[in-house]
Amino acid sequence: MFSTLIEFGGYGHQAIEAAKYIGQGFTVTSDHLNRSPITVQYPYEKNVSSERFRGRIHFEFDKCIACEVCVRVCPINLPVVDWILMKDIRKKRLRSYSIDFGVCIFCGNCVEYCPTNCLSMTEEYELSSYDRHELNQDQTALGRLPISISQDFSIQVISTQLTF
Ligand code: SF4
Ligand code: SF4
Repeated sequence: MFSTLIEFGGYGHQAIEAAKYIGQGFTVTSDHLNRSPITVQYPYEKNVSSERFRGRIHFEFDKCIACEVCVRVCPINLPVVDWILMKDIRKKRLRSYSIDFGVCIFCGNCVEYCPTNCLSMTEEYELSSYDRHELNQDQTALGRLPISISQDFSIQVISTQLTF
């Protein structure tokens, strides 16, 4: 008789413990119900990148003095700066400029050290391509202004910021 009572007491204790854990589980679930979903329905929804996001590099041809500082500070000497020396005025004239985004690691060194600020990092991150050679962008492609996602009314902008 006494052992049966102890057994029932043990069952009761286990039932209370189980109810406690179920209650804790429901608390966590209800806590998540109050939060906004993290999943973004890309490409119909997009996150807003942070101000310091390092996306595609923008280049201003007219400002470049062909000093090649960007090449020297690049960890992989990536920017290709083609120039000719104009002997009469003893100045370099830029002929073409290109960066291969298939190789670039978006470290931002070239932007940081360019003496004329002709390079800047944009919020553009959609660079995928079927042909890797298309990622090698010349001055015309690099000079294209980025499309801000906040101006694209076909998609919904999510305020959670990308902070890479
Ligand atoms: S550092 Fe700036 S100015 Fe100098 S070559 Fe590079 S992009 Fe042109
Ligand atoms: S972002 Fe970095 S890796 Fe890319 S070109 Fe500039 S310095 Fe080189």
